[in-house]
Amino acid sequence: MTDEVILQVKDLKTYFHVDEGIVKAVDGVTFDLHKGETLGIVGESGSGKSVTNLSVINMIPDPPGKIAGGQVLYHGKDLLTMPQAEIRKIRGNKVSMIFQDPMTSLNPFLRVSTQMVETIVLHQGLDEKTAKAKAVEMLKMAGIPAPEKRIDQYPHQFSGGMRQRVMIAMSLSCNPEILIADEPTSALDVTIQAQILDLMKDLSARLGTAVIMITHSLGVVAGMCDTLCVMYAGRIVERGPTDALFAEPKHPYTQGLIKSVPRLDQASSDRLFSIRGQPPNVIDLPDCCPFYPRCDKAMDICKRKYPGATAFGKNRTVNCWLYNSEGK
Ligand code: SF4
Repeated sequence: MTDEVILQVKDLKTYFHVDEGIVKAVDGVTFDLHKGETLGIVGESGSGKSVTNLSVINMIPDPPGKIAGGQVLYHGKDLLTMPQAEIRKIRGNKVSMIFQDPMTSLNPFLRVSTQMVETIVLHQGLDEKTAKAKAVEMLKMAGIPAPEKRIDQYPHQFSGGMRQRVMIAMSLSCNPEILIADEPTSALDVTIQAQILDLMKDLSARLGTAVIMITHSLGVVAGMCDTLCVMYAGRIVERGPTDALFAEPKHPYTQGLIKSVPRLDQASSDRLFSIRGQPPNVIDLPDCCPFYPRCDKAMDICKRKYPGATAFGKNRTVNCWLYNSEGK
């Protein structure tokens, strides 16, 4: 990871207009991504992680969704106001994505070779023969045995783990600067999950690719990410270096998430900790701390006003009244 910032997300707001009201799926998200950095975005289902990243690559279905505000600056150029023709050159080329289920991205009717070669020819301008050689090389790097033969097979001829390796090879085949991985291991067996995470870590380090890893699993981010953003109800509530955040979580929600991870030294008779209550309904959410119904430390002000960010050193922020002088 270097000091060079390649992506700046500033006060991003993505709303969905539904019959019941306005769903503020992402409400004022701000973060920077540095060259070669692995950034984890973690939170429960519905916290806005995936919508944040679909917004980053300007792929929100409109209607019902709408990017209601903010900027996504890729090397200083705003992806949200860029003409579609220009953004298509960046998407899949400079910024690539891997989804949870590779079958949603791979076309079941086309051979892997057709899909990979088409992508490389389109984005890299190589001829088909060179593109196929590059595709084989990427499959080899991704740990697919006999890639020269397997490249001509169809997606259903690969196991789930192998399909995810194909997706990783495909996503990295155009040397993207940023790889967005949305729950890339959730659909896989635990042993395969570890292999895929190791592969992503290894390839991103070798190719210098920055990764945004979206996950609900703290286990995934602990071993993989340099920096962590914890999301709750469409907002980042805590952000900082992963080690510091695990060593000393500050936001009560982050503390609860970390406490909920089962530990090997825990007696089997001990009850597993869980955060009480349910995530809030984000339709027409009032401007308070949305975590207050579940928070043991909630104060009066938490029900009236959303806390601004309190900085801890250069790289850490927390949005909680416990750390804000106005809340005292
Ligand atoms: Fe709890 Fe208040 Fe902090 Fe929200 S702002 S997490 S309710 S203490």
